[in-house]
Order: sequence, then C-alpha cells, then structure tokens
Amino acid sequence: MKAGSSRPRTKVPQDANWLQQLDLSRFVSIDLETTGLDPSVHEIIEIGAVRFVDGLPADEFQTLIRPRYPLDPFITELTGITDADLEHAPPFDEVAAPLLEYIGKDVLVGQNLEFDLGFLRSAGEKKLGKCRDNPFLFVNRRAVDTVWLARIFWAELSGFSLKALAEAFEVTPVRAHRAKEDAYTAGSVLVEMLRRLPTRVWSELAEHLDRLIEGTNQRSRFFFRRLCEAAENIPKPRATPALHQQNDFEYETDSSDLRILLGKDGLFEERLAFFRERPAQIALAKSVDSSFNEHRILLAEAPTGVGKSLAYLVPSLNWIRADTEGERQVVVSSHTKVLQEQLLRKDIGEIRRALGGNFRAAVLKGRNNYLCKRRLHILLRDADTRLSEADRMQIMPLLRWSDMTATGDISEIGGFNPRFQSFLWSLVCSDSLACAGSACSAAKGDFYRSAQDRAAKAQIVFVNHALLMVDFLRLMSGGQKRLILDEAHQIERAMVNAATTDISTLVMRGVLTRLVDEKADRGLLYNVSDRTDSEMVGSLIVKVRSLHFSSRQSLSGLGEHLVGRLRAAERTSRARFRFGDGMHLLIRDHLADLLIEWLEFSERLNELVRELANLRGEDRISPETMVEFRSVSDNVLAIGSRLSRVIEEEADNEVTWVEYGKGTHGGWCSIHTTPVSVGQIMKKVFWPQLESAVLTSATLTVNNRFAVTRECLGLDDEDSGGRICEISLDGPFNLQTQMRTFVPTFLPEPRQDEALHAEAVSSLTARIVEEFSRGTLVLCTSNEMLERITAALTPVVRKVGRRLLSQWSSGSLPELVAQFRRSQNAILVGAASLWEGIDVVGDALQILIVTRIPFDVPSDPWFSARCEALQAAGRDPFMDYTVPMAALRLKQGIGRLIRHTDDRGIAVLMDPRIFTSGYGGLIRSSLPSTPRRMRKETDLFTEMNSFWEGQSTC
Ligand code: SF4
Repeated sequence: MKAGSSRPRTKVPQDANWLQQLDLSRFVSIDLETTGLDPSVHEIIEIGAVRFVDGLPADEFQTLIRPRYPLDPFITELTGITDADLEHAPPFDEVAAPLLEYIGKDVLVGQNLEFDLGFLRSAGEKKLGKCRDNPFLFVNRRAVDTVWLARIFWAELSGFSLKALAEAFEVTPVRAHRAKEDAYTAGSVLVEMLRRLPTRVWSELAEHLDRLIEGTNQRSRFFFRRLCEAAENIPKPRATPALHQQNDFEYETDSSDLRILLGKDGLFEERLAFFRERPAQIALAKSVDSSFNEHRILLAEAPTGVGKSLAYLVPSLNWIRADTEGERQVVVSSHTKVLQEQLLRKDIGEIRRALGGNFRAAVLKGRNNYLCKRRLHILLRDADTRLSEADRMQIMPLLRWSDMTATGDISEIGGFNPRFQSFLWSLVCSDSLACAGSACSAAKGDFYRSAQDRAAKAQIVFVNHALLMVDFLRLMSGGQKRLILDEAHQIERAMVNAATTDISTLVMRGVLTRLVDEKADRGLLYNVSDRTDSEMVGSLIVKVRSLHFSSRQSLSGLGEHLVGRLRAAERTSRARFRFGDGMHLLIRDHLADLLIEWLEFSERLNELVRELANLRGEDRISPETMVEFRSVSDNVLAIGSRLSRVIEEEADNEVTWVEYGKGTHGGWCSIHTTPVSVGQIMKKVFWPQLESAVLTSATLTVNNRFAVTRECLGLDDEDSGGRICEISLDGPFNLQTQMRTFVPTFLPEPRQDEALHAEAVSSLTARIVEEFSRGTLVLCTSNEMLERITAALTPVVRKVGRRLLSQWSSGSLPELVAQFRRSQNAILVGAASLWEGIDVVGDALQILIVTRIPFDVPSDPWFSARCEALQAAGRDPFMDYTVPMAALRLKQGIGRLIRHTDDRGIAVLMDPRIFTSGYGGLIRSSLPSTPRRMRKETDLFTEMNSFWEGQSTC
C-alpha cells in the first residue's frame, strides 16, 4: 500500500476561481480493478486514488488486495496483474481504514463511479454486515462521474469509455486498466472537461439541469446547483451546424463515359490516392446506367470488394445531370442505418473530392428517429409527475443537444441510446399520434418535417428498407424517380416486417405506464388528478384509474399464466395458430377477459379526455397536455381493435402466431399477423410503380441463378414486361488461393443425432482453437449451440491464454466486433446477427467455423406457412425454397472470411450433409470457394497446417 506525494505529470492550466465556484478545487479520483463485474460475487484486487488540488494531482494512494480465488486469465491479460503479484498483498480489511483516511471528506470523482462505489459498499458489507455504519456507503458524500458529465455536455461523442474520453479531451493515459493510473486519467479528464465547460453551458441550460436533479438523491446534485450559479451570466451560444448537412457542391465533370470516371487514369484514380480501377465496378456502373435509361429492373450480384456503392452512385449522378428540368431523384435504400450514414458521409464525400459537383443528397429516416421538441419541453415541464428519479438522470443528455442540433436525428449522439432508453424516447420522439400538427408552436423546429423537406428537395435520398416499405408510395411518387436497393437480400424480410401487424403485452404495458406508473409515481394522470373540482372529471379519473389498475394486473397475470401454458403446449417460444385450433382457443380464452376490460378502459379514457378538453378557466388543461392525453387514448383504442381483430377474425392468406417469453417485468406475449407471400404483394403494388430499379447484394444467386430471389420478391419477367436483367460479377479476390473450405465428413450427421453432432462440433471446435492461435469466428445456428460451444471453449481459452468473446454473454455487437478486431487472436462465437454485416479485415479473422447448414427452423410460423403454400401449389418446398435460402445464408456467413486482397483464411463447415445429402450439390455450387471433403480429423489438421505454411495441396 502506497500513499504519498504525486509528481505532477502534466500541467493542466485551470482557472482556480472556476473550480472553486464548482466546489471542485479539491477532489479524490478513485478507481478499482476487480475480478469481474458483479460486486456480490467478484472481488477488488487493486485500489488507486489520486487527489487533485486546484486542477493538479497532489498525492496518491495505491494498493493491491489479495482475493480469495485465483484470477481469470482474462483479468491478468487485461490488467497485467498476476496471482503471484497478489500472493502477499493485504486483504481488504487491512486496507479499509487507510483508504478512508486518505479520502477524508473530499468530493469523489471517477469514471463510472457507481461501479467502484458498489464494490466498496459490498466489501464494507462483507466486513460489517448490512448496516448504516458501513463507512463505504459514503452517506451524503458529494461525487461527480466523468461519464455522466460527458454524456450531458458532450453528448455527440460516440464513445464514453475512459480511453475515448481521454482521447476526446487530449489527456494522455498513463497506463490503462491499472487502478491508480486510471484514477489519474479520470481526474485529468474531469479537470479538462471543467476547463472547457464554460463553452458548453449557458444559464438557462444549467437551470434546467438543476431543476431536473433537484429533489433526487444523486450525489452530484451539488455540482448542478453550483453550476447554475457559476453559469449565471453565460449566454446561449449559437447552434452548431448540422452534423448531417446536405451536401451542396459543384459537379463540373462533363463526362458521361463511366470508364473516364472510374477507369484507369480516370478522375477517381487521379484525385483519390487509394482508388484503383476495378473492371467489375465499371461493368456494374454500366449496367446501372443502361437500366436507368432503358427503364429496366436490374438484379446485380456484386461480391465484397467490387465497390458497388460508387458503381451505382456515379451513374445515378449522370442520370440526374442529364435532366434539364431538375425533376429527377434517385432513392437509395439499404437494410441498415449504418450503411445509410456511410453512403452519405463516406461515399458522397469521395464523389465530391473526385468529381466536384452540384447536387443535393440527404438522409431520411423513420419518424421516430427524430426528436419532437414540443414533447420534450412538456415532459421537462411536467418532470415532477411524469419522470422517475432514474428517468430524470437518463434524459439529461437530451437537454443540451436538443438546443444545438440542426437535424434532431437521435443517431447524432452517443450520450442517449434510444434502444436502451426506449420508454423515455417514446415520450419525446416525433410521433404522428402525439403530434399537434399545425397547432404546434414548435413547428419551426420540427425536425421530422425538415428532414422530409430536405429529402423532397434532394436529388439523392438515402433511406432504409423499413422506411421504404412503409412509406413506399410517398417516396416513389411524383417527378422522375429511380430506386436502388442495396443489401437486397434483406428485401423480403423487410417487406414481411412492414406487412406484419402485431400487438404485444409489452406495448400495452408501455401505454399504461404513460398514463400512470404507480411504482415510480409518474404519469400523465398525475398531472390532472387534483386540478379540478368537476365531479364528472373526478369520477371518470377514479374509474380510469381503477380500470387502469385492473388492466395492468390482468396483463401481468396473463403474461405469467399464458407463458406457462404455452411453454407446456409448445417447445419453442413462437407458436403458429389457426382460427379455431387448440392454440387459438387457448389464447382466446386467456385474452377474452382482458379484451373486455381493455375496451371498457378505452371507452372511459376517451370520455375522460373529452371532459378534460371541456374544462375552462383555472381548471383548463394546457393544449400540450391534451395532445398527450389524446395520443394515449388513440393508442389504447388502436390496441383494442387490433386485439379483437387478431383473436376474433380469421385471417385470409395470412399467418398468425404468438411469441412469448420472460422479461424483467415477468412473462410477456405478442401476437403477429403477416401475409404468407410478400412476393405476390410486391408483384402487384411494388414493381409496377417503378420505372426502373437496381437490386444489388453480395448474395442473390444460388448455383449462379437468381431464380429464388426473383420468386421471393415477385419479380416475374413476363409480368414485368421483359424488363428484368441480371448481372453476376466476379469479385477482385482470388478466393481459390486466398481461402480453403473444408467439410469434416467424419463428424456425425445432425439429421441422425442432433445431440451427438452438437457434441462432436463443440469438441472439434475446441481442438481447432487449442491448435491454431489465430483469430476465429464461430457461427452458430441456434442459441443452444452458441451456449454449448461457449461452454466447451471456456477451459480451452484459459489453458491457451486466449480471449473468448460470446454474443451470448457480453457487450453490444459493435463492441464485441471491435474487441475481436483489436485482440488479433480472439475467438468470437455468435448466432444470427453475426452471419452478416461484420467486416473484419486482416489477421483478426483467419478461421471461420460454421456449425451447420443454416436452414430455417421448421417451427418458424411464417416459414412453415410459406412451405405449406408451396406444397399446395404442387411444388417441393424443401428443394425449391428451404435449401436455396440456406445456401444464400451460408454464402453470406462465409463471406465474412475474406474482406481484402491480403486476407487469407480457412472455412470449416461442420455439417457433413454438404457432401453426403442429395441437396449437398446445390449448396456446394453456391459456395465462394470449392469445398474439400475431410474424411479424418488428422487430414483436416494436416491440411490446415499446410495452408498456413503455404504448402496446401489444393
Ligand atoms: S409538429 Fe408535431 S412532431 Fe413537430 S414539433 Fe410539433 S408536435 Fe412535434
């Protein structure tokens, strides 16, 4: 244990007066290293603390702590601390008093401070038991968390890890993942943040923040109170320019010859250092060009590396330029919002640098991606009644951003994630049901409308498939339009989702919570409960609250009861039902009472809303609150009619199913209805609306034919008047040299014994991981397999000292992929979402293991209905649909392996059926490199070794 004077390593200039005003002229920055993330199970192994005085480090405290159990190799890899280092370290009990003495009464500071305080609290409890005397409760202690401040005042940052903040605030970290060094970095980040804070805060913002946090138990209350006083005279700065600005620039190039633009010595090669001519790119660009001009629908399979974005954007610009009336627009739709952003920022940026130009490009997203300033304003005004203490903290990052943003697109900021804060975001995002329309005083700052206006004026608009499918007619009507569908293998799924109507107990619970949340004392009804003497309103409120309460009770009971019954009746978490069958009757029986209650609730709520609107004088409810009430009432009504339709009416040519599971609030279920064949819908209403379209993806063909894609999307050449054309391009990689594909046919077949196959796959994967210390991606087809493989690999990675990342256990997908990339020899095990969309170049990914052919699950309701429909039409659903779809998915998965001309890798496909089944030939013919059959494990390992040594026999 060391405590002493610290040599300042950097001199951070700081206005001492400003620090004093914020009561932060002295603080102790603290950090812990632990054996894991759960304080009830894991232990502290190191404590570091640095005291800052007037913005500079003054002295420090550091000690290792001996845990009861040996360290996980991952912790040793992360921190560099070994079991030997801890062998003679003191236990926590010996450290507790000196630590408390060191901290004294100073303000505590830290990165994710609650995590560290939680561990200290728990260590104190282990010593003293749960009691108020635990000094590590730090009762009434003032504290500031660097993450939280960054989220509020620098919400636009994309990452908030200590490393990311140190980078953003130009603090050089001394050494990451050691307690004293991290404490030093966090303290320095805080000082640097405070130095810059006067440019990020203004008086009104400070007041709003203070009002939100006041009355809560947050340790940082003092900071916001002080900030309010310190920022008293700071005026609001001018709003920053939009991060997603439209691109206006001069397009001066007078050449419509695509070779001159994209070819050797062309403008792109001349002006962009990294750009090289790619024959396949030029071929695709020419096909796009002729499709646009000849009113065709082009299906283009373009493998990774072709450069398909530029191949369709450049001819799109040519087509736009050829119009003198200014009526032309190209709509580019992608599956993910990530690609939408990348096209606007990266690809349009490159075109601008290469060609100059004068055209307008814009991104348009779905309405609920945009903030509604009016709703945010009302929510903040009614925070006392509508927000819990946790909500008030969580919503803070929206305050500064809402005043500075020019687009209101929530993806601009990393400080608030609408996926994790879905309830809060649903209260403030743009929503047609909660929109005041022309009566809205915030209409000038209506971000969604502005985005629509920008999109209407743009010549290239980037949308995503989900938005395109629900807003197709509006997006594609008027003027001359062309459509490009990138990631086109996802179109069928997007169409299915758009055509699906669903109703879920979670959504019902969310709507009820907007009205009243008894647990957190919040909700709209609290706003009006004591506002009026009107007897009528008073009695309606009582009725609504009582019906609200019983509906909520029924929902909880229903969730639990139904999930129990469904689990007993079905083995999966999705069950299809037909009108009148056992499953339908079970669901109807359970939902009938709730439906009666819900309809009654809806009626009374509607009555209440009418009565509230009639209140006058002092009782009058503000128009903003009335909009929110009407929105809840409309939602309740819509849910009621959807619920009765789904359980009372037979669906024609549709499939209906129930999904169920257990969440944090207990059991939940949802009911979905969707058309069996979206191809039929697209054939009638989608393609006939389009003069020309381009569909492109790396995976559109099976056995070099587009047949399955065309059938799924309703692209029948006769019905389309012979305007469909196809092109399948070769990628720039030499896959026969760069990769090997092995199929170990010595493994048992899954169709004979699933459990035996799974066991053998896990063991072989473990042996490959043990033998080859190379970045490995394992793609599973089910969560059970993912779990099994993770369990099999855990002891192996400990033994060989490698990192195991599992989609099952930790982190968001981008975080996992980033860690995988950084580690260079880690093993990443994942299911569904890892099969596509991840891009890992270089040594971090050299071995790809596929556990089995990714067939659709036969119990999937939509899939089974689709197969039934094919069978009814006299077709073979297995060979005509199931196998081709699996081949496409397998091709997608294998496509993760080679992403660059320098990449080398091995794909091991652990499903012998690729060679032993009748349909194996179709699968083999769709793979990017010729697969080889491995009859013995020794052969597989010999071939793998030979490939790495450059002596492979293939
Ligand atoms: S017009 Fe509607 S969406 Fe726009 S700010 Fe007003 S209420 Fe919100």
